[in-house]
Amino acid sequence: MLNILKPSLVAVGFILVGNFPVKAQLEQSPINISSDKTIFNPSISLSLSDFNYGNSVTLNVENTGSPDQEATIQANLTVPGNTFTFDGEVYELLQFHFHTPSEHLLNGQVFPLELHLVHQDTEGDLLVINRWIEEGNFNTLLDPIFSNLPGNGDPNFEVDNFDLSGILPSSLDSFQYPGSLTTPPFTEGVQWVLFNEVLEISSSQIAAFQALFPEGDTREIQPLNDRIIQTDIENFSTVPEPTTVLGLLAFGGAGLLTSKKNNFFS
Ligand SMILES: [Zn+2]
Repeated sequence: MLNILKPSLVAVGFILVGNFPVKAQLEQSPINISSDKTIFNPSISLSLSDFNYGNSVTLNVENTGSPDQEATIQANLTVPGNTFTFDGEVYELLQFHFHTPSEHLLNGQVFPLELHLVHQDTEGDLLVINRWIEEGNFNTLLDPIFSNLPGNGDPNFEVDNFDLSGILPSSLDSFQYPGSLTTPPFTEGVQWVLFNEVLEISSSQIAAFQALFPEGDTREIQPLNDRIIQTDIENFSTVPEPTTVLGLLAFGGAGLLTSKKNNFFS
């Protein structure tokens, strides 16, 4: 079905489905993290103390329906208590899972795998942490999962004494933006935190996962629209000064951010 766009509704972010205006899905994931759409903001830096990830947790690992492109291999946390505090909110880690190839791109670069750590706060708001995964050294941390990847229909299995804290990178440099789930119903209002430091895994470990998803399990890249990506990595952004958050605040605050961003983020 075609959605007929009325300019007056489009302007305020609505589309027509049948005769009914519904809010357009303008903040979808995944996206390409592009230097010319990213602003430097050191105040978003994360700290290790924001994370309360256990070093001996029990995981319940399941195949949610390979080779379906909306399925994955998912490791569910069996008990609560593994949290990430972001912007003053405590988010509980519910599960982590994998996509092949990567869903997010880094200046157009595709990685063979991407890890998503899915968190939820007490109000039901979601926050997903990403780690891109590249081919490299054998990954002993993930081996209990990757050496036993369950096929579709296989029973779930448990991994004991998993060092969840080992999933965190040594540098917490990140990209942050507002987005959505990457599988139906593509719910928006999801906070994304993408670590810049890439995780390594061996070619045989990648091959084991890809054997389950020969067509991949990745959603296509979505338009950025009016969103701004922020990073605490110096020299990543190619957006001209003073179009940084600090620069804009110095030059007149959020109003200017709104008017200026169209020059750089359209
Ligand atoms: Zn995912």
